Amino acid sequence: MLIFEIMKFEKIKKLKELINDSKSIVIIPHTSPDGDAIGSCLALFNMLNTINKTSQIISPNKAPDFLNWTPGFDNIIYFDSDEKKCKESLLKSDLVFTLDFNDLNRIGELNEFVEKSNSKIVMIDHHQNPKDYADLVFSEPKTGSTCELLYEIFESIGLENKLNKDISSCLYLGIMTDTGSFQFSSVTARTHEIISNLLSKKIDHNKIYNKVYNDSSESRLKVLGSALNSLTHIKELNTVFMSLKREELERFHYKKGDSEGIVNYGLSLKGVVFCAIFIEDTINDNNVKISFRSIGEFPCNLYAEKNFSGGGHINASGGRFDGNCEKAIEEFLKTIPKYKDKLI
Ligand code: 5GP
Ligand code: MN
Repeated sequence: MLIFEIMKFEKIKKLKELINDSKSIVIIPHTSPDGDAIGSCLALFNMLNTINKTSQIISPNKAPDFLNWTPGFDNIIYFDSDEKKCKESLLKSDLVFTLDFNDLNRIGELNEFVEKSNSKIVMIDHHQNPKDYADLVFSEPKTGSTCELLYEIFESIGLENKLNKDISSCLYLGIMTDTGSFQFSSVTARTHEIISNLLSKKIDHNKIYNKVYNDSSESRLKVLGSALNSLTHIKELNTVFMSLKREELERFHYKKGDSEGIVNYGLSLKGVVFCAIFIEDTINDNNVKISFRSIGEFPCNLYAEKNFSGGGHINASGGRFDGNCEKAIEEFLKTIPKYKDKLI
């Protein structure tokens, strides 16, 4: 057997033991969970149920409404609105899964209670540069989504025969959203093989797509219009950026999740390889959330890490800026020319 196969075998064996020995399991997605984070947490939650292991999903904050149909969604509790229950759950847990992130600073203040809990921690994730906090690490940056990786883990553990319609729907959600509906270069023949297996469980993939992409609120469409209207094209650097200021978000009755994915529209402009969107925080003053997307070789993650205290993947990353949109954009315009050779 190859070393790699032996290591994988050992890890899967350890995972089985941890699950079997556990009495109280907690599952945690990253802050502002997306389709892959919610999909993977609920797939695991539903899978654990099938083997008579109850678990509690604790999300740092609310998930967007367009994910509220996901099987098991109502079982999630939220640290920002129900801190007491979340703390109790964590402090009595003996096994914690952290899904779709690899750095405890991605879960904000919840971090402190994970560290206090004395639980064994299992990381299952597909971002680059995992931090060293987990007892057992499944980190596969080449895999397009945590849900795809989780499917592989289910199969390796021998739980494939337990995949039902609910679990398959959760996994499909994460794979679909994190691959931009199967368009990104991370998609492989294996991804489609997995999708084929999920479809054989009679999931309603058309409904899942419509729930995620065709269930917009009026505020979402107005926010989208405003973002597109702000689009600025820096032709000499094949770059575009958009912005959403607090005042306009408030005018359109912005709700969390309304701006999700808007950044991708920037890449649809002919010739563009790098795109950013700057979104002012409507709750905390002086904070801008930034999303970056690229096509090809431009390393969004390195750019975000170096210039906006963030990170992510080569073609999709995010970061933050202390100040307003205007100042964040100033910083952006100052820093991107340094990357000219990677942009043109
Ligand atoms: P989004 O633009 O959708 O918020 O994030 C795109 C990708 O970048 C996601 O995979 C997300 O995990 C990562 N990301 C977003 N914001 C941050 C951040 O502040 N820090 C790090 N390390 N990664 C981020
Ligand atoms: Mn993901």
